[in-house]
Amino acid sequence: MSEILVVGAGFAGAVCAERLASKGHTVRVIDRRPHIAGNAYDEYDEHGVLIHRYGPHIFHTNGKRIFEYLSRFTDWRFYEHRVLAEVRGQQVPIPINRTTLNALYDLDLDEAGAAAFFEKVRTPRSPIQTSEDVVLNSVGPELCDLFFRGYTRKQWGRDLSELSAGVAARIPTRTNDDDRYFTDTFQFMPAAGYTVMFQNMLDHPNITVELGVELSAQDRSAYDHIVYTGPIDEYFGYCFGRLPYRSLNFEHQHLPDVDQVQKVGTVNYPNEHDYTRITEFKHLSGQKVAGTSIVREYPAAEGDPYYPVPRPENEALFQQYRALADKESNVLFVGRLAQYRYYNMDQVVGAALAAVEDIA
Ligand code: UDP
Repeated sequence: MSEILVVGAGFAGAVCAERLASKGHTVRVIDRRPHIAGNAYDEYDEHGVLIHRYGPHIFHTNGKRIFEYLSRFTDWRFYEHRVLAEVRGQQVPIPINRTTLNALYDLDLDEAGAAAFFEKVRTPRSPIQTSEDVVLNSVGPELCDLFFRGYTRKQWGRDLSELSAGVAARIPTRTNDDDRYFTDTFQFMPAAGYTVMFQNMLDHPNITVELGVELSAQDRSAYDHIVYTGPIDEYFGYCFGRLPYRSLNFEHQHLPDVDQVQKVGTVNYPNEHDYTRITEFKHLSGQKVAGTSIVREYPAAEGDPYYPVPRPENEALFQQYRALADKESNVLFVGRLAQYRYYNMDQVVGAALAAVEDIA
């Protein structure tokens, strides 16, 4: 049995630690932050509302295996996320659907009418390479400008045309009335929150967790295996230069005198304000406490790395680091930061489950 160091106690690290511990390995988990659960960390604020310190984390997956795996560590609360975008003074569904078109253009389209509308306004693009191509190809220039261009500029500090197709392709276009943000088979929130789920994952006799601890030079050579879940460029001392990551600043606020401020979990502001969106946490948790707590997300170039920036040149730089990573025979690089992938939580879990197969 091996001695294994896991760097990072977010989804990638916690899943790897749990799987390896269950195989009988001795696992030490370190994280530079003072808490587990990475960016999925949730906690009760001083008003008793369960909030996500690093912005809204909504679990959804089509992966039965992934859902069943996490179900060992948590009960679930059924929750389908809905998002409205404030556009031209109205709050309308995003992803853009039939309701969005009817509200925005004062129409009464049925599904076939909505399909015909998109067909009329869309700008066919081929090949589809950038996020601008994706959006113009499905909804044309006006809806692109109303819903996507401003939001994307705020979120990424770049134009849609400067981002790979995958970014905007996260958001579908619909001709029906389905106003759910996701359509995955499994849409649930951990019933007692993410942090409790992580505590349960890491609660194993073979696992020790040390918080507020950096990866040291000695650690790098002291273990049979390392699972590294931090930024890959940092691991290699930025030897090829920095990989861009986008950051966010979170403005949390408690409103004592209202039980609910917005109709749905998240309202997006594509065109006004410096923040991209406001999330009201009670929608996510179903809590019935008095007052309500919200968070505004302000995108930032500097700060903790939250999003890899999907662009061909960044991918090329990542591949240089990956070539170095491939030579590190006893180090696994797993997760959003180590694999430089705009992964959702379930995809990180899937990547971690796959990665640990490499360690017997
Ligand atoms: N997006 C947009 N307008 C919206 C929602 C999303 O332009 O109202 C674009 C934007 O570029 C955003 C991307 O689609 O970064 C992905 O959105 P998602 O909600 O999946 O972002 P996340 O929750 O990962 O921050």
